[in-house]
Amino acid sequence: MIVSKLKPIPQILKSIENLDNIFILGCGTCSTTCKSGGEEEVARIKQELLKIGKKISGTAVCETPCVASQIKITLAKNRKALEQTKAVLILACGSGVQSTKDNDRMGLKMLPGCDTLFAAALDAKNEFKEYCSHCSECVLDVTNAICPITRCAKGLLNGPCGGMNKGKCEVDKDKDCAWVLIYDEAKKFNELSLFKKVQSAKDHSKSVKPHKLILES
Ligand code: SF4
Ligand code: SF4
Repeated sequence: MIVSKLKPIPQILKSIENLDNIFILGCGTCSTTCKSGGEEEVARIKQELLKIGKKISGTAVCETPCVASQIKITLAKNRKALEQTKAVLILACGSGVQSTKDNDRMGLKMLPGCDTLFAAALDAKNEFKEYCSHCSECVLDVTNAICPITRCAKGLLNGPCGGMNKGKCEVDKDKDCAWVLIYDEAKKFNELSLFKKVQSAKDHSKSVKPHKLILES
């Protein structure tokens, strides 16, 4: 899931100060889950815009705006309202905003209403946790499913830095040192020899952006 948060209201209002007839588009998947762009937030932003006298040409929550087949359906269903629209304020992640732009055939102005933060897993305490930085060369097989790239503040691949203190990271004392966690798991599975092997440097040519993957049909 992609975690995003609503931009501060003054910032949203500033971005539309010279525009009227705004269409507000939400996302029914990630942005609904992290409460940055579901039905509730779309209604809230609509009220904020109405309060300052802006006209709203329409609102919609697309199930998954980052999937072409779905955003196309939402745009087609709302065509009449969109024909009156000067700009679409999109409460979704950056992929949702750009996918909407790519699939719009009317050449509308697209504005982001959210800041995109990270890809996350949602735990049982409703906390979004960043576990993966999408490095394109996963080493979780070696580290017993604890990612050193993401969970070590320095992204170290070959053991801890010298700053760990009582199992906590020197960069953020509230966080466990990822390499202590990796050590504990290696010990549990009798794999401490891991610490005698050197992981070769990452091949950053594999993670050149923007990434693209074409599914075979
Ligand atoms: S090593 Fe970490 S950042 Fe790389 S793919 Fe695996 S989990 Fe993601
Ligand atoms: S203390 Fe541990 S988690 Fe923090 S930067 Fe050093 S090795 Fe990484």
